[in-house]
Amino acid sequence: MTALTGLLIARITQSGPITVADYMAECLLHPRHGYYATRDPLGGAGDFTTAPEISQMFGEMIGLALAQAWLDRGAPAPFTLAELGPGRGTLMADILRATAHVPGFHAAAQVHLVEASPKLRTIQAEQLAAHTPTHHDSADTLPDQPLFLVANEFFDALPVRQFVRDEDGWRERQVGVQNGKLILGLSGPTPAPFLTHRREDTAHGDVVEYCPAASAVLAPVAARIQTHGGAALVIDYGEWRSQGDTLQALKAHRPVDPLRSPGEADLTCHVDFEALISATDLIPARVAPQGLFLERLGITQRARALAKALSGPALDSHVAAHRRLTHPDEMGTLFKVLGLTRAGEPAIPGTTHDA
Ligand code: SAH
Repeated sequence: MTALTGLLIARITQSGPITVADYMAECLLHPRHGYYATRDPLGGAGDFTTAPEISQMFGEMIGLALAQAWLDRGAPAPFTLAELGPGRGTLMADILRATAHVPGFHAAAQVHLVEASPKLRTIQAEQLAAHTPTHHDSADTLPDQPLFLVANEFFDALPVRQFVRDEDGWRERQVGVQNGKLILGLSGPTPAPFLTHRREDTAHGDVVEYCPAASAVLAPVAARIQTHGGAALVIDYGEWRSQGDTLQALKAHRPVDPLRSPGEADLTCHVDFEALISATDLIPARVAPQGLFLERLGITQRARALAKALSGPALDSHVAAHRRLTHPDEMGTLFKVLGLTRAGEPAIPGTTHDA
C-alpha cells in the first residue's frame, strides 16, 4: 500500500467518498506524496515519454510555427513566450534553439513557465538558464503583454470529473472505500448543468468526462491574447468532443489500475477540446492530427536533413522517432493539435481555420 493510499482511506472513511477529480488531484499534486511533487516522470527510466523527449524535431517544428505566428502578427516586442507544464524543459529548449536565427525573436521573447512540480522547476531552470525563465503557479500571473504559448501533454494531467448518464440525468463517479480498499462507486442523481449539451449524444450508462480546471486555466491565456495579441498551440491526446471513460494510469510505461498505486503512477484523461475552449472568445483551428500538423510544417524534410549526418543505430532510432511522432499507428492520429488565435488573424502554421 502506498503512503497516499493510507491517507486517502482515512479521509474517505471520515468524510465520505470523493470525486474522481479530487482523487486525481491528490494523486498528482499532493505536496508530499503526489506523483508530480516527488519525481521526474519522463524518459526511459520514468513512467512515460512525450513527443519532445522522443525527438528534437518536435520542438523545432513548434518553434518555427510560433515564430511565424509572431511575424504574421507584426513581431510585437516585448512578448511572453510561455509554456504550460514544461516537463524537463526540452520542448522550450528546442523551440529556442530553432528560433535563434529569427531576427528579433529572442531579443523580444521573455520566457515564462507554468509548473506545479518543484522538482521539474529545478530541472527546467537548469535546462533554460541562458534564457532566465520566470516560473508561475498558474497562468493567472502571466504578464499583460502579447502572448505566444504552447502546452504539450499538460491538459491531460488536469483532474477530471466523471459522470454516468441515467434515464433522466447524471450520477457522478466517486472513489470510496470497501473492505479497506479503494473502490469506484456512483453518487445519487446529481445536477450537472455543464453537461446539458451532452444529453443529445449520450444514452443510459454512457460515461462523460468534465474537466473544470481546463477552461479555468485557458481563460487567463485567452484574455491576454484577446487584449494584447498572440496565439496558442495546445497538443494532447483527445478528441473534439470526448465520450467514455478515458482515465488511465501508467507506471514504468505500463498501464495499471488507476486505484492501485495512488501517487506512484501517472494519471491522465483524454482532452475534450470543445469543452476546453468553451470559456474563450478565440477562434479555434480545426483540430489537426499531430502527424498531419508536423507534416505540414515540414518534419519529413527536416528528418531527411538530420539523417545525412547519421548512420547505424543512431540513424535507425532517428527514423523510428520520426515514425513515432507522425505515423497513424503511433502518435500521429491519437494526438491532436489545436491552434487558438484572435478573429480575423491567420491560423498558426500547420493548423487551418474552418472556411
Ligand atoms: N510538456 C512536457 C511535460 C508533460 S508532463 C512534455 O511534453 O514533455 C505534464 C507537465 O505538467 C509536468 O511538467 C507537470 O509537472 C505539469 N503539471 C501537471 N499538472 C499541473 C498543474 N495543475 N499546474 C501546473 N503544472 C502542472
